[in-house]
Amino acid sequence: MPKTPISPISPISPISSRLKTPPTITPFFKLPNIGVYRFKGLGTPPELIVSSTGGVLNKNDTTAIQTYEAALDVVKYYNSSFNRDSYDNKHSDVRIVIGYEDAPGRPLNNAYWNSDDKTLYFGDGDGKLFSPLGTARDVVAHEFGHAVIGSEVKLTYTGESGGIHESVADIFATGVDHNLQIGEDVFTPGIKGDAIRDLNNLTFKTVELLKASEYRDEPHATGEVLSQAAVLASRSLNDSKGEGGLDKIRNIWYTAISDNLKNHSGFAGFRQATESAALKMYGPEARQSIDDAFKAVGI
Ligand SMILES: [Zn+2]
Repeated sequence: MPKTPISPISPISPISSRLKTPPTITPFFKLPNIGVYRFKGLGTPPELIVSSTGGVLNKNDTTAIQTYEAALDVVKYYNSSFNRDSYDNKHSDVRIVIGYEDAPGRPLNNAYWNSDDKTLYFGDGDGKLFSPLGTARDVVAHEFGHAVIGSEVKLTYTGESGGIHESVADIFATGVDHNLQIGEDVFTPGIKGDAIRDLNNLTFKTVELLKASEYRDEPHATGEVLSQAAVLASRSLNDSKGEGGLDKIRNIWYTAISDNLKNHSGFAGFRQATESAALKMYGPEARQSIDDAFKAVGI
């Protein structure tokens, strides 16, 4: 059953409220406000269903409640992993619209970050290709990742730079549910074991395969080459959590996009940005792992 109302956002334990003297330790992170709205048609303002400050306004909308819970996990994940305060690192509200339709009565089988109105949009899916997309933590983490990347660097959403956007969003998303599948909980609800993308089983594993295909400029396809490099590099980096170095890869990738990457960078620029981040964070062996991985995929 959904929790009603949503627990207060202050991370101070309830016990502290019974203390006469206020606790001297101040919380290091106060979560940004999250609001989940339901789409009501084009030209009509969406209806607020759940928010951090107002709780649940319609307990029958379980999709909205599950989306709120997923978004809460995602915001906490980006903070605990990367010390990031909301998508822009400026504590901005996280605004989410669910139930989006691309035509009246036709539920969207997709999700996206709109950088113009700073809103995450999730379709409820048609029930065959997708169930409600916002309920999947890795899908929310992927779209939130686009928002993070977009607030750090201006990457054209096409070809190689579009691929950086897609791949980095996927790599970030793998950390929220600790597996290499993206969207497995909402993709084809009638079929078990599949996913939107499986980073263990990519189609475009090298630049050569990509160039030979008709998808050579499509960001999801170009991104697969980078994701293949990330997975290869993660395998040669040791990691205490048994994740094959993916924790390190995510940290390196995050530093690369937030400190090193230049606007409109392509694959070569991304390689440079990740290699210098790896050297600084984990030393020459880590840099070498990344270098080998990029070579192996033809970058
Ligand atoms: Zn994407």
